[in-house]
Amino acid sequence: MSGTFVGMPAFPAAAREAVGDATLRGNLRHATHTIRDKRARAVAELDDWAALREAGRRIKDHTLRHLDRYLVQLEESVTAAGGTVHWAADADEANEIVARLVEETGEREVVKVKSMATQEIGLNEALEARGIHAYETDLAELIVQLGKDRPSHILVPAIHRNRGEIRDIFRSEMGAWGRPAPEGLTDTPAELAEAARLHLREKFLRARVGVSGANFMVAETGTLVVVESEGNGRMCLTLPETLISVVGIEKIVPSWRDLEVFLQTLPRSSTAERMNPYTSMWTGTTDEDGPRTFHLVLLDNGRTDTLADEVGRQALRCIRCSACLNVCPVYERAGGHAYGSVYPGPIGAILSPQLRGTGSEIDASLPYASSLCGACYEVCPVAIDIPEVLVHLRERVVQGGPAVREGNRVVLKPAKGHAAERAAMRAAGWAFDRPGALRAGQRLASRSRRLHPRTLPGPGRAWSGSRELPAVPAEPFRDWWQRTHGGKGEAE
Ligand code: SF4
Repeated sequence: MSGTFVGMPAFPAAAREAVGDATLRGNLRHATHTIRDKRARAVAELDDWAALREAGRRIKDHTLRHLDRYLVQLEESVTAAGGTVHWAADADEANEIVARLVEETGEREVVKVKSMATQEIGLNEALEARGIHAYETDLAELIVQLGKDRPSHILVPAIHRNRGEIRDIFRSEMGAWGRPAPEGLTDTPAELAEAARLHLREKFLRARVGVSGANFMVAETGTLVVVESEGNGRMCLTLPETLISVVGIEKIVPSWRDLEVFLQTLPRSSTAERMNPYTSMWTGTTDEDGPRTFHLVLLDNGRTDTLADEVGRQALRCIRCSACLNVCPVYERAGGHAYGSVYPGPIGAILSPQLRGTGSEIDASLPYASSLCGACYEVCPVAIDIPEVLVHLRERVVQGGPAVREGNRVVLKPAKGHAAERAAMRAAGWAFDRPGALRAGQRLASRSRRLHPRTLPGPGRAWSGSRELPAVPAEPFRDWWQRTHGGKGEAE
């Protein structure tokens, strides 16, 4: 994933710092509450929201089950329409393909549509290393890029910035990237938007190469779909002579009919709009209009491994609406940077450890970055049971052990706490399989109850330090039942 996140501390340490930043918390609280309330009203307008949600879940599950077939169909459709398909197993391969394609055009700069996939692979940094400048054209991405910052939200990457901060970034940085900010720029939204529009327009008109992702790819026709709100995407997708789209392999839908569902659920879940202001669709190339050359880079980068996990694969249903971020109490307080990935919030907590594995400190900590309140599942338009996947991934972390740094390597080792937890579970399993031993153990525990410590030793000390240990009853339940019911109904 993006090199900009490499070396991030584990979630608890990163979150602690973020929680202490009062400005950040204020920005996040204001923004997430505004978006979540608007979303709730937009969703409530539809009587068939539950049916749409279920249809979205089914379409995605069906597609993922037959992904091999649909990918081949998509490649054939794109090729027949005049496009060229490239397959990238990981981030390095995808970056190499894109850099080579840009170099073949002889150009040294590209304009970009906002794209999570290209952020995931760190494309901008990889292009920069080859002397190619990538210009973000989405307003929030522009703010992040000019501010030499990292995105902190899927939909609103600069959600952690307020208007005053954005004005300062525009004033100090725009000139170094192109047209400077107008004299006397204030922090009113209209002036900030106009400054960005003027700055970007010259880039749109000059660029010969555009780079995008896609929200959906229709297998039956080879059509790619980008939905956005600002019109910058439309500019990048139509003006350049060469268009290169980097898209995760899970973004396929089988047919145009399937789009009907997502084009209703995505805008209401993300921006609380009834429909997207700009929905761009293109199928290969045409002689009279748009880019003359189209390349599609299909990105795996951990998706096939995720697909192999029966519980975890549901994360691949995600349509990146970000509704789960906006309702998450942990995200609201910790902010997006603490997740150490371009995918923050609840979806990031289940996606990053699957795409990247749980081998690093940050990825091993992400499944614990949740209170398991379930608000994310309630709002998800494709019904991803995020709490279920979080618990599943915690199990994986415990089984594999946490990540431990050894020199400059990160390795998985069973920690004392996890080893003790596993030993306790094994002992419990042994006892529950042997009713006689269980009964003897319960009687012994009851008779020795006055000798029990009030706090647990070893790794259990942290747990019992903030909780009352439940007292063992003077008489085990089974003995009480035997005495009061004469053994009737008792199953041993
Ligand atoms: S997990 Fe669901 S709610 Fe969260 S971004 Fe993905 S589709 Fe949206």
